[in-house]
Amino acid sequence: MTLSRFPSLLLAASCALAPSLAFAAPPARNILFFLGDGMGPTTITAARIYRYKEEGLLHFERMPHSARIKTYSNDAQTTDSAPSMGSYMTGIKINNDVISMADAKPFGPRKDANGNASIDACPAGNGRAAATILELAKAAGKSVGSITTTELTHATPASTFSHVCDRDMAYQIAAQVVPGGAGYNPALMDGVDVLMGGGRNHFTPFDAAHNSKGRADGRDLMAELAARGYTVAADADQMRAAPPGKKFVGIYSDVSHLDYALARRAGQPALAQMTSKAIDLLAPNPKGFFLMVEGGKIDHALHDTNVKNALAETVDFDEAIRTALEKMEALDPGLRNTLLVVTADHDHTIVMNGYAKRGSSILDIVRNVDDGAPARDADGKTYTALVFGNGPNRPHQRADVDSAQAQADDYHQETGVRLKGETHGGGDVKLFASGAGAGVFKGTMENTRVFHLMKAAFGF
Ligand SMILES: [Zn+2]
Repeated sequence: MTLSRFPSLLLAASCALAPSLAFAAPPARNILFFLGDGMGPTTITAARIYRYKEEGLLHFERMPHSARIKTYSNDAQTTDSAPSMGSYMTGIKINNDVISMADAKPFGPRKDANGNASIDACPAGNGRAAATILELAKAAGKSVGSITTTELTHATPASTFSHVCDRDMAYQIAAQVVPGGAGYNPALMDGVDVLMGGGRNHFTPFDAAHNSKGRADGRDLMAELAARGYTVAADADQMRAAPPGKKFVGIYSDVSHLDYALARRAGQPALAQMTSKAIDLLAPNPKGFFLMVEGGKIDHALHDTNVKNALAETVDFDEAIRTALEKMEALDPGLRNTLLVVTADHDHTIVMNGYAKRGSSILDIVRNVDDGAPARDADGKTYTALVFGNGPNRPHQRADVDSAQAQADDYHQETGVRLKGETHGGGDVKLFASGAGAGVFKGTMENTRVFHLMKAAFGF
């Protein structure tokens, strides 16, 4: 039997197809981009087992579309956070340590009189600013936000809203977000609508006694932001109280990054709370919004070869994604106008080794499948299921590790090659996508391609 003998059936089929063809891939009004810093495939697997056991899934793993992402930078096989995030945000490959600039070489900021990185601008002619998806969204009349658990000036958030030739130029990066101030990034137009993170010292004046890592130029950027109409918050209560309809900046630590989730001080908001507030502030714009959310401390714990905090941070990041999914589903049923993308900027050297018994704590030593007894290396010593390819913890002679040691909050997993600090890994990372236009994220892609797909999803 052929379809030509059933013309009415053919007609019905073509009618059913017509609307989806005519309106294929409608532009997404909103895009939420989630970046788990250093959250490579093994970290995802380990966090899944840590929180939900082998059979479970993290919330973002339930997203219907996924891809593998190549993360190499313009000049290195293994990237740092700056060029990889820059590639997601601008669509070009960038040199290591450079923030959203084409053809720039890292500068290496000099020290100021106080011993902090100087506020110097990059030398003229050293690269060109590359437009970010946040800037393009702003130019299209959307609201935009960038929130993180790291310093607000750190490489990942910086790559959404600033352009500098070296990621360590934090004082310069801070100046780029103050509308109308010296050093402002004019591509941000009237300013980023929502900013949250840590490291207030980059925004406030140097004071030998009270702010030794403050700005050498004496500027108080928090006061300047307030004068430009921003609500300024320093803790979770002030964040919650921030009124709608105004720009918002929340900086929740005096210096450095926010706390690990397992040791979060009272008053510091969780990433999920920050995400919820950001959506409340951004979503009322009828033209839509772009929001970047970074789980930035996954990377810090992995550099420290401290897996427990890395997994707890990954779960905390996943909770922020769950919050966003629930809020956006309520605001935009079926996510017909909203695209959510979750990915990482690079891997680490963490590996899951041995044949540990199913159901074991992922932080435990490897235990045999048959009798649950500790597995032993060639020298008769026990070892943990998770170890690192490099880092500082390589004893000249291995000793036994017991379960209590291995599962302590501050345990540092062992490493192969001995280096002062654990490095990033150069392997591919995963990407997960859900909502409007999510189906184009598949296969193995360059990180630069993600920018072009988001840009197309916005209809730009
Ligand atoms: Zn790192």
